[in-house]
Amino acid sequence: MPSAYVLTMPPPSLCILGSINMDLVVRAPSLPTPGQTLLGGPFDTLPGGKGANQAVAAARAGASVAMIGMTGRDDFGSRMRAVLAENAVSLAAVGTADTAPTGVALITVADDTSDNTIIVAPGANALVTPNHVDRAAGAIISADVLLMQLEVPLAAVTRAAQIAKDAGVTVMLNAAPAAKLPWDLLAALDVLIVNQSEAAHIVAAATMGGDPDEVARRPVEDQLDAIERLGVSCAVMTLGADGAAVSRSRSTRRVSTFAVDAVDTVGAGDAFCGVFAARWAEHQASSSLDADAIIDAATWACAAGALATTRRGAIPSIPQRSEIIRLLCSR
Ligand code: ADP
Repeated sequence: MPSAYVLTMPPPSLCILGSINMDLVVRAPSLPTPGQTLLGGPFDTLPGGKGANQAVAAARAGASVAMIGMTGRDDFGSRMRAVLAENAVSLAAVGTADTAPTGVALITVADDTSDNTIIVAPGANALVTPNHVDRAAGAIISADVLLMQLEVPLAAVTRAAQIAKDAGVTVMLNAAPAAKLPWDLLAALDVLIVNQSEAAHIVAAATMGGDPDEVARRPVEDQLDAIERLGVSCAVMTLGADGAAVSRSRSTRRVSTFAVDAVDTVGAGDAFCGVFAARWAEHQASSSLDADAIIDAATWACAAGALATTRRGAIPSIPQRSEIIRLLCSR
């Protein structure tokens, strides 16, 4: 194995603030149109939630991971805790809500295109408050990187970003699902990761009266430049089967895709984000975080995203570090 692929010791440390959901997944011949009822195929309950998915992705890539989040006091919550613990994710800052159920995501996967639609019922995730984040501050300030998404309340995300920034911890946000980002959150971010539709929404929201469809037609480089101008030092856009693009200091570099037989894209974006953050933290811990190291992190992330599309579900599809390295070495 190339020496650059050997995990640094101690491993890099990540804190992940985010959602913990049970995914209720049904396969269907195609995605239903409004008003249409389809007879679906097999039904599964699979562990998920962007926060939990990204925590598992980072842990499987070799990072030491602490999660901040909330479940309900129910069977889905117990099952999610067991899955996170099996993946060596620390649960010390994961609370249990008495007044809300564990979050669920209702997912439809189309057999014809492998595309999906997702509706999230946040449940206990909506009870992650700035106070809860304050109580978990130790997990944030002891990490190399804080990684968050937008399936828990913005106020909690903003509070965590500020704690991390004050402590000199790198702050990454995967702005999913897309939302207008408040200036005090943007001011604390180092890295913003988005997919194509999130990029269009965020750029449009930042431009008064902007139209996401119009933004989506602009070259990727222009969209990333607009995101960088929001104040982040690194902007990353995932491009599905076309890989990813990374912009830093107003210069964009493409990261090419890994050709795989995709069967289900659920979890690909989360595998990308968790592995990107873990590999970034690895380079940061060995003080070699230059432009090439960031592209290396994005290449690992693309490999992880590609591998995640070859298996069904979110957490079950997330690759181990050894699988990522095997795919990287096969190029
Ligand atoms: P999201 O799932 O958040 O919409 P993307 O669809 O952009 O995110 O996928 C995330 C990453 O997963 C991509 O950057 C790419 O590296 C990988 N990926 C997704 N779909 C494929 C595919 N069909 N073939 C290879 N890699 C893929």
